Amino acid sequence: MNILVINAGSSSLKYQLLNPETGELLAKGLCERIGIDGKFTYKPQIAGKETLDAVDVTMPTHSEAIQAVLDALVDAKNGVVGSMKEIDAVGHRVVHGGEKFAKSVLITDEVMAAIEECNPLAPLHNPANIIGIKACQALMPGTPMVAVFDTAFHQTMPPKAYMYALPYAYYENDKVRRYGFHGTSHKYVSGRAAAMLGKKPEELKLISCHLGNGSSIAAVDGGKSVDTSMGFTPLAGLPMGTRSGDLDAGILQYLMNKYGMNIDEMLNILNKKSGVEGLSCVSSDFRDLENAANNGDEKAKLAEEKFAYEVKKYVGAYAAAMGGVDAIIFTAGVGENDKGIRAMVCEGLEYMGVKLDAEANQGRGKELVISAPDSKVKVLLIPTNEELMIAQDTAAIVNG
Ligand code: AMP
Repeated sequence: MNILVINAGSSSLKYQLLNPETGELLAKGLCERIGIDGKFTYKPQIAGKETLDAVDVTMPTHSEAIQAVLDALVDAKNGVVGSMKEIDAVGHRVVHGGEKFAKSVLITDEVMAAIEECNPLAPLHNPANIIGIKACQALMPGTPMVAVFDTAFHQTMPPKAYMYALPYAYYENDKVRRYGFHGTSHKYVSGRAAAMLGKKPEELKLISCHLGNGSSIAAVDGGKSVDTSMGFTPLAGLPMGTRSGDLDAGILQYLMNKYGMNIDEMLNILNKKSGVEGLSCVSSDFRDLENAANNGDEKAKLAEEKFAYEVKKYVGAYAAAMGGVDAIIFTAGVGENDKGIRAMVCEGLEYMGVKLDAEANQGRGKELVISAPDSKVKVLLIPTNEELMIAQDTAAIVNG
């Protein structure tokens, strides 16, 4: 079985063709500058097939982008499947499923209408996801399509975790609540953690740290998300590459009044000029921070310390929320690669049974237990694979 996974943005589209049973990746790539001119990248994973790297392909709309993907996949010389019949289904990443979708779902007209109803909750992302689905439906009539939501995994949170202490009417009338994001990643690594530990998901209390350019932490109790650090939007929780994470809302009024900013200007600063980049005055990339800190840059060191400190606080909070923790998972760009941040997060957590193995912590890029053999709480490095999770969900739904 082959599943095409599509992640459509407003002017770009990422894709992978993979086998959900074996995890084998057949091809992946990217369409960029859709609606501008069009650049097409195609990376077949089969020996002897040629890669296309940002070649010019006219893409006035997402339709031409998806047509380019399909043409490349079935191309007689460099394609990876014989015909369109070998693409069994399409899994679409959809950012926001609101309270309507607690799991992945086969796309029907009713589902499309319900996804559109979630547009106000993710105005930058959901409309682009919908355009991608419609373009695919037009080009692949009869091929089943599945929507996989970034928010769905967190729909198991109890009200005490997802409610804000605001007037209740804002929840009832306006759907203001914590939704959480990165759900596909948290779900994938939680499943892998159970497999690595040889336990059933129901038996485990996990803290999943997805630390990348965007970062979030999830408390996963018995296989279900019971709390997460992102909120109504992905701006909440941890400081990130350029996002502030949580802050005192009173700061907004103070700075907006002082500098005559409107709310869009303020939010632009909170989303794009804050986080470790804003704090360090160096970069949003943790590799640059480490280099700068090693060269004595105090602000870069502070940004790393602040980030690790906030991750540590969530680990403590979620252990308390769940009444214990069996394993802490590190994933995504920083979590998978930055041994220094992992060490800073785990340092001082010995009292709660977390003991990192300094040598194992040197590893990267593959599934590893990085805690000491006698550590009560296991610490796991697990590369995330959202595309495989989308393909597996899609296959499960299509196979009934
Ligand atoms: P992601 O959003 O998961 O793709 O993560 C991207 C981020 O991971 C980059 O912005 C870097 O900050 C971080 N990253 C990637 N590779 C490394 C590395 N080798 N060491 C430290 N940080 C890394």
